[in-house]
Amino acid sequence: MDWFSRLLGRKPNVAHFTWHCSRGEHTCARCRELDGTAWVPEADFKSPPLKAECTCPGGCKCKAIPTGLDEAWGQGNAEFIRKQGGVVTGKRMEKFFAG
Ligand SMILES: [Zn+2]
Ligand SMILES: [Zn+2]
Repeated sequence: MDWFSRLLGRKPNVAHFTWHCSRGEHTCARCRELDGTAWVPEADFKSPPLKAECTCPGGCKCKAIPTGLDEAWGQGNAEFIRKQGGVVTGKRMEKFFAG
């Protein structure tokens, strides 16, 4: 196992995760706010579904979409997220992708 896999621990092939919410009309504000948030696997960040803060009818249906290390930009994105402290908001990621 290389240093990077060791660092990531349980999920050696994941570069980072992206919060994905359905953006339906009943999706609560907190879920919408989190949509697009990206974080690296070792970050101190709670993956979806949201529990206490979510007011979506039927509960949170958000998902964590993994981006693999072997996918285009996977490693570059993870490096950027790590430099920002491990968690980056959706808005910030949009700027990163645009830039
Ligand atoms: Zn919600
Ligand atoms: Zn949700």
